[in-house]
Amino acid sequence: MPTSTTPSDVTRMPPGPDVLRVKNPYDGSEIGSVPALDRSATEALVARLGAAQPAWADLPVADRVRWLERYRDWVLDHRVSLAETVHLESGKVRHEALAEPVIVADLINYLCRIAPSALGDRTPAPHGMLGMSKRLRVQLRPVGVVGVISPWNFPLAMAFMDAVPALLAGCAVVTKPSEETPLSLHRAVAGWEEIGAPPVLGCATGGPDVGRAVVDTVDFIQFTGSTRTGRSVAAAAAERLVPCSLELGGKDAMIVLADADLAKAARGAAWGGMSNSGQTCVGVERVYVESAVYADFVRHLVAEVGLLEQRPDGDVGSMTTAAQLEVVRAQVGDAVARGARALTGGHPTGRGLEFAPTVLVDVDHGMEVLNEETFGPVLPVVEVRDADEAVRLANASVYGLSASVWTRDTTRFRAVADRLEVGAVNHNDVMSNLLSFAIPQSGWKASGLGARFGGPEALQKFCRPRATTEPRVALSSEPNWFPYSALRSTLTHGVLKATVARGLRRIR
Ligand code: NAD
Repeated sequence: MPTSTTPSDVTRMPPGPDVLRVKNPYDGSEIGSVPALDRSATEALVARLGAAQPAWADLPVADRVRWLERYRDWVLDHRVSLAETVHLESGKVRHEALAEPVIVADLINYLCRIAPSALGDRTPAPHGMLGMSKRLRVQLRPVGVVGVISPWNFPLAMAFMDAVPALLAGCAVVTKPSEETPLSLHRAVAGWEEIGAPPVLGCATGGPDVGRAVVDTVDFIQFTGSTRTGRSVAAAAAERLVPCSLELGGKDAMIVLADADLAKAARGAAWGGMSNSGQTCVGVERVYVESAVYADFVRHLVAEVGLLEQRPDGDVGSMTTAAQLEVVRAQVGDAVARGARALTGGHPTGRGLEFAPTVLVDVDHGMEVLNEETFGPVLPVVEVRDADEAVRLANASVYGLSASVWTRDTTRFRAVADRLEVGAVNHNDVMSNLLSFAIPQSGWKASGLGARFGGPEALQKFCRPRATTEPRVALSSEPNWFPYSALRSTLTHGVLKATVARGLRRIR
């Protein structure tokens, strides 16, 4: 089986019950291990981070920027070994694993550039008579300790997409990687200590219990994972009245209109549906094609998918977990049992946890594969009458993460995009919103709450605003205070009405 040796700096714990052993999806071999924390160890870690956070928050933003830039260099220096660990623990191909550390470094660059202005005090102009006498200021103060709970599909990049802005905002961060893929994040967090940075970044390794302990102790919960778990995280956050931001599942639609460049659309579908073995939240999960070009599109797509090489150094890798392989197998099985046809793949390859890239036709909305998140290399393709039917079916989902629309006509793209109930729409491309850090990545409906990225908001979401008012003129009393009198009332309300009302109402 074509895997590689374990990178030399992956952790290996001595045998014992409090250890999380991580296996390679290709051959089941153990590739490393990390401590499995319990609740009290997690609470102690969060307490330590909380104790270090005020001094970090008190640093000027420029000093925090300098630490993050030093850390970016560490990440880039360890790029190859981190990527190899991502590859081995997740089963994604090496080409895709190598992107993760670089994405982290690029995000650090972007956020370090905007942090000083995004986190600086604002002095809004006052409004109306009552505000006129005051100088207004808004400060952004970090929320405290942020819990960043993440899934297994991007073991390294996903956690840092939230940890980097939270750190820059002045928060401490406890990361909680998936129990399936904790090695690369655990190693990367150790790098923060290695550069001698203040102790405000930690890693709570373990299973769902550790996730629950994080939810129960931190000041802000940033959760990425399934919609089912997201609901319970939101309920726990509501109970404690702490803010939470949720990035959840999706069932992203691709709409191909009759004037689209079909060859490019097919390449986009193949990449959007099959990269990372389909285990990307904003991956293409279903395709709606106008009937005039349906047959042509399917022909192009089958040809594109037929070119994909499935092996660790090829285009498509392995599923990460046996449980996810079962989900994919069951959904494809359900579709085929109800009359769908697999034009490619349709089954596991028998090598490790691989599922063969699959194009499904003759599918309908009675099948799970068009309703439930598949999270596997499967593209169900549906023929639709026109754009209206495509929009109606695309919106017929509990999810609303992102979508793509394929047409040569920008006006038509915008008209269709305006009607889609999703957080992002890409024109003639897939997933490009995810790497455009200046725009928000948000899920509508059951795909999430809040957003990540989005320019300055990426940093500001980890802050609480503190507003201050200061008098412009020192008075011994204020006009709206006691004592009330008829004369004062007439004067005050007369002036107020004159400034609030418009036209003749000012004097009537
Ligand atoms: P999951 O919900 O099972 O687990 C996610 C994380 O939550 C893990 O670290 C897990 O240990 C932890 N956890 C489990 N139960 C918990 C609880 N009760 N309280 C706190 N933490 C708990 O998700 P998964 O299977 O690891 O990931 C796949 C899902 O993630 C897919 O649905 C995918 O769409 C979604 N996802 C969404 C985005 C996005 O940005 N919208 C990005 C990547 C993945």
